[in-house]
Amino acid sequence: MSRALYSLVSQFFQALPGRGAARIAGMASPAFDKEIFFFGPYKIDPREVFLVSKHSFALVNLKPVVPGHVLVSSKRVVPRFTDLSSEEVCDLWLTARNVGEKVEKHFKASSLTLAIQDGPQAGQTVPHVHIHVLPRKASDFEKNDEIYDAIDDKAKAMNDHLNLDKERRDRTMDEMEAEAKDLRALFD
Ligand code: AMP
Repeated sequence: MSRALYSLVSQFFQALPGRGAARIAGMASPAFDKEIFFFGPYKIDPREVFLVSKHSFALVNLKPVVPGHVLVSSKRVVPRFTDLSSEEVCDLWLTARNVGEKVEKHFKASSLTLAIQDGPQAGQTVPHVHIHVLPRKASDFEKNDEIYDAIDDKAKAMNDHLNLDKERRDRTMDEMEAEAKDLRALFD
């Protein structure tokens, strides 16, 4: 499909209510490998990206706090949620819904945490709007809401009882690429 046609079809489906919109929002663009993605100041290797929509992209996490912890980010590099247009907000959340549905099943979880740390005082470390999508399982944390401390690096550092550091290390590009490849296949 040509880029212009993709854009037209995407706009048509994104105007529809309900799951049709989510499906098309998650449709991989033909420019999938050719687009350049920034996550805050970082240029993202396309091997980390597993889904692209009109205004958003989904990437695997350098330091996941649970298996399948992925990120859905706006394409436009803006720090705050209110910097996004209505169309970008719709696209971001539709993409997160689509991604959440797939990763929950893929990682054999039974719930999802969807979270935005909107600004530095809310724990944001990468100044670029993104939704954390975390597949959840019974007893994955001793206290359910400890996941928010785990997402928030600074709080985590103060909560050594969580002791996540040994699991929460930077992953290699090979590890991230392998996961992104598995996740990409879920959207074919
Ligand atoms: P926040 O603290 O809410 O801004 O979240 C930043 C998230 O981005 C954390 O989950 C980090 O592990 C993750 N992260 C940071 N740099 C990268 C990167 N280059 N690729 C993938 N994930 C990243």
